[in-house]
Amino acid sequence: MTGRRLRTVLLLAALPAAAAGAVAVALKAGHRRLYVDRHRIELQPQPRRSCPDCRGDGGWWVDGANPEMEACGCWANRPTWCLSLLPVPAWADEPPF
Ligand SMILES: [Zn+2]
Repeated sequence: MTGRRLRTVLLLAALPAAAAGAVAVALKAGHRRLYVDRHRIELQPQPRRSCPDCRGDGGWWVDGANPEMEACGCWANRPTWCLSLLPVPAWADEPPF
């Protein structure tokens, strides 16, 4: 078994234990960040390292009386995909029969 495959197997083996105790999980893959908790699954855009404007910083500071950060279009103009999860229905107090 290769080292990469072994790491994948160990990660998959640890997921149920982590899922039982953790409330939320966040992973970064490509130009999106995966965020999962008990209420939603969300893919959020991330700044691109190859962006010629921000070079992966996600924005830049604008000078003036009230300096603030302006978001770069490489991630700010892309949509966030969100899938809301339905609540688990309550268990019935009565036996089924
Ligand atoms: Zn950018």
